[in-house]
Amino acid sequence: MNVLVINSGSSSIKYKIFNMSDKSVLASGVIDRIGEPVSSLKHRWMKADGEYEEISLTRKIDDHSEGLQWITCVSEDTGLTRQLEELFGIGHRVVHGGEVFQKPAVINDKVIETIREMAPLAPLHNPANLVAIEAAVKNYPDVPQVAVFDTAFHQTMPPHAFHYAVPYELYKNYHVRRYGFHGTSHQFVSKQAAAYLGRPPEEINLITLHIGNGVSAAAVRGGRSIDTSMGMTPLEGLIMGTRCGDIDPSLPFYIAERSGLSINDIERMLNKESGLKGICGANDMREIISNSGKDDLAKLAIDMFCYRIKKYIGAYHAVLGRTDAIVFTGGIGENAGLIRARCCEGLEAFGIKIDEQKNASSSGAAHEINKADAKVRILVIPTNEELEIAGQTVETILAAK
Ligand code: ADP
Repeated sequence: MNVLVINSGSSSIKYKIFNMSDKSVLASGVIDRIGEPVSSLKHRWMKADGEYEEISLTRKIDDHSEGLQWITCVSEDTGLTRQLEELFGIGHRVVHGGEVFQKPAVINDKVIETIREMAPLAPLHNPANLVAIEAAVKNYPDVPQVAVFDTAFHQTMPPHAFHYAVPYELYKNYHVRRYGFHGTSHQFVSKQAAAYLGRPPEEINLITLHIGNGVSAAAVRGGRSIDTSMGMTPLEGLIMGTRCGDIDPSLPFYIAERSGLSINDIERMLNKESGLKGICGANDMREIISNSGKDDLAKLAIDMFCYRIKKYIGAYHAVLGRTDAIVFTGGIGENAGLIRARCCEGLEAFGIKIDEQKNASSSGAAHEINKADAKVRILVIPTNEELEIAGQTVETILAAK
């Protein structure tokens, strides 16, 4: 049973083909610079002997439909014809499902229309996701396709967690509320954590921390998200590579008045020039860590980054009442022991105790880094959003049959 997962941006398509019987990746790749004079394709595939090979190609690709045709051709050229002919389904990552989509949806005209109506909530992302959905429907008309939403996992948040204290009509008229993102990742690692702990998801409470370029935390009670740090957009919450996270909502007005920058300029600044980059000029955590010994601003950026995560751990510990485990994932969460240690520093009284030695050892698999006598387990679990999308695609197609 093979599933193609597509994650598209306005000028890019990332893809992975899974063999769902053993969860192996048959092929993966990315097309960049669609619509520009020269587009590039990186394609990696599994050969008959189980080893992987990679090629890089360039040519002009006008749109996503042509991009998908290119992927099909290259896949066939590299011996994956049968795997494509046997596609059980195609799963699409869609950023915003608003309040309509609480779970994945089999794609049909109505679902496409509803995702289109949701575009004002995610003006950069949903239109780009739709272009790829329409191209895939055109290229693979006989393969069932499923939209998997980044927001869906957090639709279980209760009203007191998802409302903003602004005039209620804004919610009624313009859908102003907190939605949360990274849902597929939080859901994936929650399930993995339950499996690791050997307990049913319904019985455990988790704080999941997705710490990559984008950063978000979720409080997960019994397998359901009850709060998360990102809001109406991914800008709210924790400090990120280039996003500011929580700030005083008056800041944009003050900055506009003092600097003369437009609202659009300030929105761009808060999304692209802030966070770690805004403080120390770099947003790659490896670089920041290596500079932190000699550069005060790199040190400050790390101090702020970890302090904010620690505050959210405290808040979600209070929200959950009892925390069984904290889960670190994402490029930083999975690889940066220093950051994990700093986020948990001083939380011993809550039963959160990192074992330095376990924290220093790296492993590509799920592992535990808490002290043996700690009340709260601390897990490092590699995320795999594409595999979660593939799994949800299969479940959704089977349920609809
Ligand atoms: P995205 O959110 O774009 O998917 P990732 O989850 O891949 O990003 O995370 C990217 C971040 O992870 C970068 O800041 C990178 O520096 C950081 N990172 C990756 N490996 C390490 C490492 N070994 N030590 C510290 N940071 C790391």
